[in-house]
Amino acid sequence: MKRLLTGLKPSGELTLGSYIGGIKQSVKYQDSYDSFIFVPDLHSITVPQDPILLKERIKKNVALYLACGIDPNKNTIYLQSDNLYHANLSWIFECLTYMGEASRMTQYKDKASKNINVSVGLFTYPILMTADILLYDADFVPVGIDQKQHVELARNLAERFNKRYGKTFTVPNPLIPEIGAKIMDLQNPTKKMSKSDDDTKGTILLLDSEEVIRKKIMSAVTDSENIIRYDVINKPGISNLLTIYSSLKNISIEEAVLHFEGMNYGSFKHEVADLVVEILTDIQKKYHEIMSSNTVDEILDKGAKIVNNLAKDKYETVLKKVGLGR
Ligand code: ATP
Ligand code: MG
Repeated sequence: MKRLLTGLKPSGELTLGSYIGGIKQSVKYQDSYDSFIFVPDLHSITVPQDPILLKERIKKNVALYLACGIDPNKNTIYLQSDNLYHANLSWIFECLTYMGEASRMTQYKDKASKNINVSVGLFTYPILMTADILLYDADFVPVGIDQKQHVELARNLAERFNKRYGKTFTVPNPLIPEIGAKIMDLQNPTKKMSKSDDDTKGTILLLDSEEVIRKKIMSAVTDSENIIRYDVINKPGISNLLTIYSSLKNISIEEAVLHFEGMNYGSFKHEVADLVVEILTDIQKKYHEIMSSNTVDEILDKGAKIVNNLAKDKYETVLKKVGLGR
């Protein structure tokens, strides 16, 4: 069975973008792949984090994965920092990465332009991501469009290592959803909805209350044409809401456009809000049940054992190939 790997860093509260572009994809694939899903906590400290909030979010993220439909019997679920081999392998890949190729990462350029004090970690995190993927020989990595370039880096580094030291790593492939590869901010629909944004007016959090969800969707920025059609360039706001609706309904954009034909923007937004509320209310109910049990710790303990065993073997092979150790 081919292996699939996903992670959503606990850098902020998970959003509707995290769900549609990330978790929902993994739920869809969990029957057909040997699935790994983890909390990449090491990645979250590339920008400053409050230690207390970070620790809480690690547990919340796992509970949300489960509440969103990730089945612990079909997935290996683990915390990145429970396995020291991620960071060790990352060092090996850092020494194989050229400054030029790391500097071309658009996420880095984008985030660096918004931060005054940019950490070296923000620059090298795509290499840690390469280690996350290659450590377990993942064949597929479901990602939103913003992470495609990082999976390409992982492919290049796998090929470079294999060429230099002999076949060692599986070359991974990105899996990009047909619909929902980039959910946009509701207030600024030309910008990606991101969990690390300070202003959450345009971001739907998975744990937002019904009232807040409705308010955010009803005040989503649109246009004055009052015709519901899909046109990302001229109608980014309406197109984004159509994307959210069709992804959550599991229908095509064309079917969604047909469904809303002739409707005014107010009624359209209302129906989108109803659907988002219905799905998130169900997720939240399950989330609260999971948070009040020991499930998360039990699952992470089990996952840590499995991935440490796998990683130890892989890392020892790598050391031997590179000529490190005794
Ligand atoms: P941050 O702002 O801290 O980078 P993020 O919201 O971009 O957070 P990540 O943890 O970087 O979330 O990404 C986790 C996964 O979710 C990735 O596969 C990413 O492509 C996907 N993803 C994140 N935001 C969106 C979005 N708005 N639309 C579709 N997919 C998304
Ligand atoms: Mg991101």
